[in-house]
Amino acid sequence: MDSKDFISMNNRYVFNTYGRTPIMLVRGSGCRVWDSEGRDYLDFVAGIAACTLGHGHPALSKAIADQAAKLIHVSNLFHIEPQIRMAKLLVDNSFADKAFFCNSGAEANEGAIKLVRKYFHDRGEHGRYHVVTMENSFHGRTLATLAATGQTKYRKGFEPEVPGFSHVPFGDPAALENALTPNTAAVLVEPIQGEGGVRMPPPGYFEEVRNLCSARGCLLVLDEVQTGMGRTGKLFAHENFGITPDIMTLAKGMAGGVPMGAILAVDGVAKAFAPGTHAATFGGNPLASAAGVTVMETLLSDGFLKEVEEKGNYLRARLEQLADKHETIREVRGLGLMQAIQLESPCAEHSAAVRERGVLLNCTAENVLRFIPPLIVSREEIDEMIAALDAVLDSAGRT
Ligand SMILES: *Cc1c(COP(=O)(O)O)cnc(C)c1O
Repeated sequence: MDSKDFISMNNRYVFNTYGRTPIMLVRGSGCRVWDSEGRDYLDFVAGIAACTLGHGHPALSKAIADQAAKLIHVSNLFHIEPQIRMAKLLVDNSFADKAFFCNSGAEANEGAIKLVRKYFHDRGEHGRYHVVTMENSFHGRTLATLAATGQTKYRKGFEPEVPGFSHVPFGDPAALENALTPNTAAVLVEPIQGEGGVRMPPPGYFEEVRNLCSARGCLLVLDEVQTGMGRTGKLFAHENFGITPDIMTLAKGMAGGVPMGAILAVDGVAKAFAPGTHAATFGGNPLASAAGVTVMETLLSDGFLKEVEEKGNYLRARLEQLADKHETIREVRGLGLMQAIQLESPCAEHSAAVRERGVLLNCTAENVLRFIPPLIVSREEIDEMIAALDAVLDSAGRT
């Protein structure tokens, strides 16, 4: 069977929920992946910011293989050594006192919403369950995280909505202040909006958000599912903005591509999840945690995050050169190795044309080409991607 047969089988046997690229990737090494026809591509998608250490990373592959041979899963009815190690690594390197593990970003945010409700319930503030989130945000596809997500297109057809959410423009502290009521339990916000098109907060925004939350007694929940785990050159993106949240959610890059999510919180909040109040069968299982520990140890190794920051600056400078040359690029934005260019027209054709030249790029929010390579990407690989993109923009400019 060749890849065409598999693609038609996909249509026959798999729910048709994704707009998939018409190739099938079968192996990878570093920042490069190969399709079933033997063609190779430079991977600037990284499984949507999940493959932090690229593909076939020796230490990560070994940790997963060793753990798989020893013990894959036992459930949280038992103590799990790699999970305990992972929790300590996260807590020792963040604002948080405790971690809860789950399997995805949506599940982490769903759990954080439950945690916020339970926290105020335990304080006897039963009416205080309202969560304010941002327009254009993305928090996941479960019913509560859909209600949190500030994009109506994702919610359409799935009504009735879970109650208790409202949305304000991202980056507008006055709008947020107006939306806060005595029933506001939390503000849930991404440090940089990812799926919404890599939108940066204006300078000073998060200090104001933090101050507003503290002044009104509501919790600040940061969705770092996409921005966390070294992506912006800091372990967590909020470190760039000089504030700390009360709760943070993580997933995507946590375990280098092995499904894993987490809720991190300060003790006073974490204790609202008393025994029996929240759970996940697979959460923090030995296999995912062993992968997570390897990712964390690598991110924390000498100079690694500094390199991410410097390569991010390099990618940014190269994209700005392209923007000077090509009028179709409206804006370059992002932080670290989470960068994007806003084009004046839809970019689906650009990502297809770039793929023809051997580079994988993701188009989000219609007009935004997103650059979220593995954090191990080299300057030479950045140059290679830029050359392909430059050629595509050249030929697009001529037609
Ligand atoms: C991807 C993403 C999610 C959802 O994560 P899943 O693992 O797909 O459920 C939530 N929040 C943000 C910011 C994301 O980028």
